[in-house]
Amino acid sequence: MARYTGAVCRQCRREKLKLFLKGDRCYSDKCSFERRSYAPGQHGQARMRKVSDYALQLREKQKVRRIYGMLEGQFHRYFVEAERMRGVTGENLLRLLESRFDNVVYRLGFAGSRNQARHLVRHNHFLLNGRKANIPSLQVKVGDVITVREKSREVEVIKESLAAMARRGVPSWLELNQESFAGTIKTAPDRQELTMPIQEQLIVELYSK
Ligand code: SF4
Repeated sequence: MARYTGAVCRQCRREKLKLFLKGDRCYSDKCSFERRSYAPGQHGQARMRKVSDYALQLREKQKVRRIYGMLEGQFHRYFVEAERMRGVTGENLLRLLESRFDNVVYRLGFAGSRNQARHLVRHNHFLLNGRKANIPSLQVKVGDVITVREKSREVEVIKESLAAMARRGVPSWLELNQESFAGTIKTAPDRQELTMPIQEQLIVELYSK
């Protein structure tokens, strides 16, 4: 699947928010947002004009899409699915995104970023309920167990990510057993634990126009 291949940090500057797209670097003083927290481009530092509702909604959608590393079409399909589900569409959308296999691998600390998690999943480093699984978009369910494959436990990026977990923490809907390189999905993803400032209602408004 096609991916954004431009400068990653530029996306944080565009959204005026640290999106944590680069693993360890995001927590260091090398983070370019820490040094230049204004939008990229010639007019990046220009004073903001009054922002329309549409622009706010668009930025919110772009922000969430970038956090989860998706292209427009795929993101929109998640929205359509969220709309079909029972409950609040915006929360359904976030729950679907959080339940992606690659996101859970990242949340459990087996990867430093979602992008890295996607890469590791594709390269067969994990088992889902004891079976090989290499599709990043798989939806995990309550009770599923993700394990790092025996031969992948010495992979440097996995070891480094786990070592850095104290800094990130594991959300309460997941359980990590670091000794056995295994993580369990205890409950459905909890909206309250998405600490990034996301206003999902704006995305619903945008797509409902
Ligand atoms: Fe964003 Fe991370 Fe780059 Fe900082 S280092 S600008 S948080 S991707």
